[in-house]
Amino acid sequence: MASLLQVEDVTKRFFGFTALSNVSLDVAVGERIGLIGPNGSGKTTLINCISGVLKIDTGAILFQGENISALASHRRAKAGMARTFQIPMPFRSMSVVDNLMVPLEYIVHGLIDMANVESVYSEAHESLRRVRLADRMNARAGDLSQVELRKLELARAISARPKLLVCDEAMAGLAAKEVSEILDILLELNSTGITIIMVEHIMQAVMRFSQRIVCLSAGRIICDGLPEETMSNPEVRRAYLGN
Ligand code: ADP
Ligand code: MG
Repeated sequence: MASLLQVEDVTKRFFGFTALSNVSLDVAVGERIGLIGPNGSGKTTLINCISGVLKIDTGAILFQGENISALASHRRAKAGMARTFQIPMPFRSMSVVDNLMVPLEYIVHGLIDMANVESVYSEAHESLRRVRLADRMNARAGDLSQVELRKLELARAISARPKLLVCDEAMAGLAAKEVSEILDILLELNSTGITIIMVEHIMQAVMRFSQRIVCLSAGRIICDGLPEETMSNPEVRRAYLGN
């Protein structure tokens, strides 16, 4: 399988503290990867390094074979990378659909052009349909429920038509039925060709979703294998004890 993302020997330090230590990860086109690890193990930092929110100290990040380590995050978005944030921050006073017009116009079309408004609007609607939020398109974002906010965050991420989607705890705090719905949506997105890395604490969700599970502990990858392999790995089990 062709490689989509290569994280090569990446180290990231915050002042004296090493948050990521020689992390290497290869993600193939179309894959579904679960990224787990105790709190503070570096999952969000890795996502920030991949999406370009943070600069890496050493190593390299390649996307579709190209070294993008020095690219700003908006350039990576244009190249086909999207991520969701652990804490979604929509423009609360704007409508759901208007929240999507902003990234669509800046990332996909590059400028605000009144001539585009209608097609951008229908693209926004399509993103909302894909995350099952089209019926709430005219609601105020500030009035959405938790699960609807998660869906809006996903819609925002996919509106730029990414090849890679990285989700940072898109299910945290949701009820079991809602977790299952978000999981279904992610599986549908993957089936349309989007490669997905999912950071998640809810193990049942990670197990159902992932073709491969990678475990971080104290900034290092301690296991990268089939779901059953990673879950039964003694080091992974030890990392979770006391958490
Ligand atoms: P996770 O997402 O796995 O819970 P994080 O990647 O958020 O973990 O954090 C990994 C470690 O890096 C933690 O010890 C955290 O305190 C530290 N860290 C994360 N971001 C910063 C930052 N911007 N400045 C300093 N330390 C940070
Ligand atoms: Mg995190």
